[in-house]
Amino acid sequence: MATGTSKRPYDWTPDPHILLNVLVKSASDNIRSDFGTWPPNEKYFSHHPGYLSGTLPPDEPSEIGTTAKALDALAAVCTFKSSGQTTAVSLTLTSDERAIIVIAQNEDIDERVIRFVTDLWTSLSKLSSLIAQYGHADSPGLEPAKRSSLDSQYRAVKALVYRHGLCRVQHAFFKRWCDFKAFIQDLEHTSGDRDLRSHLKLAYNIMSSIVNVLGSPISESTSDLTLLVEDMDKLQQKCLELFKDEEKLNRWVNECQKPVGKVFPLSKYLKMCIEVQKDCSALIAFASTKRHHHILCKTMYVKAITSEKLDLAPFLDSVNLDKYADMAIEMAEKIMSPFLTRNWDDEKQRIKDYASVMRESALLHPECAILAYHDRTLLLQDGDEHGAESNAPPFIYIGTSKAPCYACCLLFRAYRKRQLGLPLLTQVSSMKVRTPWVMPLLSDEKIAASAREALYMQFCIDYAKYLSNRISTGRAEPISRKTKI
Ligand SMILES: [Zn+2]
Repeated sequence: MATGTSKRPYDWTPDPHILLNVLVKSASDNIRSDFGTWPPNEKYFSHHPGYLSGTLPPDEPSEIGTTAKALDALAAVCTFKSSGQTTAVSLTLTSDERAIIVIAQNEDIDERVIRFVTDLWTSLSKLSSLIAQYGHADSPGLEPAKRSSLDSQYRAVKALVYRHGLCRVQHAFFKRWCDFKAFIQDLEHTSGDRDLRSHLKLAYNIMSSIVNVLGSPISESTSDLTLLVEDMDKLQQKCLELFKDEEKLNRWVNECQKPVGKVFPLSKYLKMCIEVQKDCSALIAFASTKRHHHILCKTMYVKAITSEKLDLAPFLDSVNLDKYADMAIEMAEKIMSPFLTRNWDDEKQRIKDYASVMRESALLHPECAILAYHDRTLLLQDGDEHGAESNAPPFIYIGTSKAPCYACCLLFRAYRKRQLGLPLLTQVSSMKVRTPWVMPLLSDEKIAASAREALYMQFCIDYAKYLSNRISTGRAEPISRKTKI
């Protein structure tokens, strides 16, 4: 278990893993139907301010810059599988003019991802050089030949991204294509906003053309990809017009669907379809910003992190599960007192049952793998300083293909609070509880222990809030179904 480098005996009492993977996961599954989001709000939970003041402040950036957006986009376009693949990336600029992209996925990194990132960097670098030379494509008075070479470089970047992420694009379109077609047919029998109707009709026509391209085998030749890039550009334009007033669009969609009694999530579907295009735009915006030109001029190296499975068995062997369960429940009780007196035998039993599952080991979430990597390399005084190896601190933002989960978010907060030398940020968390989750090994046992304790307390607090809400609203049974682990 996460003992770090210290030889001190591991203090399991405030370990957050069992609490998160059993009780919090189960509670968050239940809460979706009852209260909406995790962690629960504090509507019925107003006592013990001492515990609440121990919560960590949210400090993710509410607005992020082009570099951070580009890193999120880069992480997203690295994924080449239709679903289930997640990626995190960081960028380190060294004093000897290297740029290192560290990549972690929830699997070992495929060779094609490394090739893709290298090609993408070269292509973005070319674009950045052209812009530095000519100015932007929309600069007034730009000679047609220069405009044309800029345009073709924009298309080259996009074609590269689409070729690598083709499965992802296909998955997005085909997942709800039949439902979308039915929705468009149903629209014929309704009336309503003319503008929205005509924008949507045009979007549908473009999408039909894209579906034709995606439905047949796409050759490595550029003609199919060129068509796809052009159509996706047009589709993005149409979607921007539709989303100008998204609330109005959603109201209109709901009105249209009332007579047919169906619910098609139009906005969600369209956003999913143009997601890769949005990522392309973020990468192009980064390359188009003059102050980033020097970054793209550097020699780039990719450091692929092997996915790490952490074995939880040694830790579990040293845990007194009876005592652990008693302590965790006692803590939640203390926090939510005086709300309840009830028998917690079920929860205690579940904690104990989970021990056998946790023996299997859990895969590190990619953002945690990157955090742990930089945490380790920063301490290397005489480490390698060549190629993809460096102990320089990374850019403060870790890009992720998906919004980080609840536990990752809390870990980053705890780490930032204690390891001030490496204040790493990520995009705002989805606060979804994704299990199995395991904390990465950190180089300093003091920081690791303090992070474990912060997570443990926050899990107790949020779980106690959940129980208080349930009991106050008459749902006396805190856990209604078994969590599948
Ligand atoms: Zn996570």
